[in-house]
Amino acid sequence: MPLRKCVGCRQVKPQPELMRLAAENGQAVPGRHKPGRGCWLCRDASCAKAAVKSGAIPRALKGQAAAPELSRLMQWLTESEAAD
Ligand SMILES: [Zn+2]
Repeated sequence: MPLRKCVGCRQVKPQPELMRLAAENGQAVPGRHKPGRGCWLCRDASCAKAAVKSGAIPRALKGQAAAPELSRLMQWLTESEAAD
């Protein structure tokens, strides 16, 4: 089972428990199979908040994308399709 580190809580978890964000056209977008640099996040509101607040998302994406709006991120976390 591949393990990935959440950019919110920084815990390492099995990949299926996390959603992936990828840099696409300067935006962080959900997508497990999108090419390019990505970062991983627990499907958890507290991790989403922590990741946005700390600036961990643009940092993990090497500045290739800005952090998404928290409201959008929360929406993606509840949409299972968004991670696929
Ligand atoms: Zn987390």
